[in-house]
Amino acid sequence: MGFCNSCGRPIVKEDYGTNKDGSLNDEFCCDCYQNGEYTEPDITLEEMIVRKTKEMMAKNDRLPETHATAITATFIPGLKRWNPEFQDDYKTL
Ligand SMILES: [Zn+2]
Repeated sequence: MGFCNSCGRPIVKEDYGTNKDGSLNDEFCCDCYQNGEYTEPDITLEEMIVRKTKEMMAKNDRLPETHATAITATFIPGLKRWNPEFQDDYKTL
């Protein structure tokens, strides 16, 4: 099991995104990546952080927003979709 490199959610095989040729892409979930493309190519890092913060708080209503934001704002920018360090890897694929 891994996690989606766009939204950070844990994913198992059933959740994998798909490449252009229909094969599974284990780097991204099916919500973020389908047929070789991001489902929401225009979403920004900030929007993703806000969205995941809200999702976390919805699952745990005692979680303070500052705490939830601290987690998402640390975790999500390190994911491959958002981390410039990984961008070169994709160009060489
Ligand atoms: Zn995802």
